Amino acid sequence: MAKTSTKCICYLCGKAIESNLKNNAMELSMDHVPPKQFYPKRVRASRNLNLNLAPSHKACNEDYKQDEEYFYHSLYPIITINNPRMGSLCSKDIQRRAQKPQTRNIIQKILSTAVTTTERGIHLPDGLSRFTLDGGRIERVAAKIARGILFLSTERYFEEQQIIRMDFYAKPSEIIEPYKFALQLNHLAGVCPDVFAHSHINFQGKGFRLLLMLFWKSFIFCATVKDTVA
Ligand SMILES: [Zn+2]
Repeated sequence: MAKTSTKCICYLCGKAIESNLKNNAMELSMDHVPPKQFYPKRVRASRNLNLNLAPSHKACNEDYKQDEEYFYHSLYPIITINNPRMGSLCSKDIQRRAQKPQTRNIIQKILSTAVTTTERGIHLPDGLSRFTLDGGRIERVAAKIARGILFLSTERYFEEQQIIRMDFYAKPSEIIEPYKFALQLNHLAGVCPDVFAHSHINFQGKGFRLLLMLFWKSFIFCATVKDTVA
């Protein structure tokens, strides 16, 4: 199930990764798709997970680190509502990581937006709508993961702009057509479906793909991707 690509182009910028670079921002860094931190430590320790890895420049994937932290911490409350068992495993990780000033800052930043209402397109369940989330940061991470999956299945680079639509559902049962149809064609699967599962459909000849990504069995991102190879 797990895939590791050996082709040496960066899945994030599409440029070649030179071999033999050491201590260099442009050196090869195998990036987890989705980020390793999404798998609670207890889950990683109890199962021998063969997580997906895609090649990137160290600098390219480090550029997303802050947004990945933001994604995880701002969407975590949905896990506690939709999948309490997984929510408690994530909570243990968060408590441990909140010792780090960087993580603590992100959590404080999210909490500081309380009381205002959501302005972006992301609709949250009752109780969460008190927080204003930065939809742009969340989408950027969802798009990165989508591009990682696309790279691993096609060995091709996909630009962020090729993702022409990204929908978010805090309740996976509420997804609409054509995503619903896509799910019937191809069920969600993954190395550890409790954390992440996806379904990827290539509409050959139509020039687009649909990608559904379910996180922690709690919420789902649906992407429509324009393909350059019809
Ligand atoms: Zn790169």
